[in-house]
Amino acid sequence: MKKEEAINVIKILKEYYPDATCSLDFKTPFQMVVAVMLSAQCTDERVNKTTPSLFEKYGTPEAICNMELEELERIIHPCGFYKNKAKNIKAMAKVIVEKYDGKVPETMEELINLPGVGRKSANVVMLEAFGNPQGIAIDTHAKRIANRVGLSKNTTPEKIEQDILKLIPKEYYKDVNHLLVWHGRNICDARKPKCTECPIKKYCKWGT
Ligand code: SF4
Repeated sequence: MKKEEAINVIKILKEYYPDATCSLDFKTPFQMVVAVMLSAQCTDERVNKTTPSLFEKYGTPEAICNMELEELERIIHPCGFYKNKAKNIKAMAKVIVEKYDGKVPETMEELINLPGVGRKSANVVMLEAFGNPQGIAIDTHAKRIANRVGLSKNTTPEKIEQDILKLIPKEYYKDVNHLLVWHGRNICDARKPKCTECPIKKYCKWGT
């Protein structure tokens, strides 16, 4: 896909989803990191139902460090993979307390080095918690749409992100992050995409 076409796709989606935004609830950058870690293999809706009871008592890195692992596992159980997620959340909180004086670091490099935080999560945190998008978070929706529309022929998230970054100017990073997820949830379903309703159908090689 050419740059101009890619930008048109984003502009059309922006008009189609004017309210597209992050659907995870959080009040602080630390809570955003926890929410995004919980959202792996889980819906944002379920995460948002779980985090209020966690953050009510344990909304800071210090509080997470001091809580029992079993208590954390119990609270986040509905989000799935709770043992692994609890272990990573506690390890991440410990690093934030000990290395960063309780404040979530504000660079991609530092975020990626936190336990349990990969590039996708770091991209989400940079955008949502700090309003400073550095790239595109490639989740299952972004991957599928990028391949279908022709934004990227690659299959790994890292390569897909690099392909999109070559096509889209930085001013659109924020929109791209939200729009691909919204389009995936609303129209470009994995199994049954609603191609006849799709506003970017004319740009899509895959659509029928
Ligand atoms: S035309 Fe179909 S496959 Fe292509 S982006 Fe739209 S919904 Fe997805």
